[in-house]
Amino acid sequence: MTCYMCDRKAQGVEHVPPRCLFPEKKDLPEGVDHRKQLITVPACDEHNTAKSQDDEYLLYLLVINLPANETAKNQFFTKIMRSIQRNPGLIKKFMANPHPVIAVDKETGQAHHTVAVNIDDARLDSALEHIARALYFYYFKTKWLGSVRTQPDFLLASLDPEKGRERNKLGEYMVAAADQLFSASDFHGENPDVFKCQVLEGNENVHKLMRLHFYNGCRVSVFFGANG
Ligand SMILES: [Zn+2]
Repeated sequence: MTCYMCDRKAQGVEHVPPRCLFPEKKDLPEGVDHRKQLITVPACDEHNTAKSQDDEYLLYLLVINLPANETAKNQFFTKIMRSIQRNPGLIKKFMANPHPVIAVDKETGQAHHTVAVNIDDARLDSALEHIARALYFYYFKTKWLGSVRTQPDFLLASLDPEKGRERNKLGEYMVAAADQLFSASDFHGENPDVFKCQVLEGNENVHKLMRLHFYNGCRVSVFFGANG
């Protein structure tokens, strides 16, 4: 069996999405389990271990975002606080140039004081691309050798308001289009408060599409084989 990302021999399995996103039993009330039948794919050593910092960065970005649910907040006060205590430099690295902003919740009209951070796009893209390719391997039992584009919805609220405005407008349009596109498709995933996924057949331009839902509010659209 070869790795889901490359042609090397698989040495173990990789969790998809990363296991750090799923709360540990000790951090949850009695009887609550968010680690039911986690998805795994075969992975070589490099693709199993090299990206653990990317995975932690993804967890961090997801749980500080406004739309995330109680499960995400719980992850912040347990897992992330522990990792900050272990490695105080980490939070500084993740939060390069934080600055206060006010985000307005579109649905309730409520204003939230929050902190905007400069996103490490390359690191986020890499984490999301690995998840997308692993899910493809899991659902279709074959590697996707073409391009993958990932479009996170959930960064819109936390972007720098100055350069964020243009991107927000386009982003809102993309989000609405994706909501519409996936409105009738089923959800997959045994731990929907942490992660669930929708899969769509594509057309001549896009081979397949996926929508990933993290902590109910953080969505990512994935295009397999999109041009550009
Ligand atoms: Zn590999």
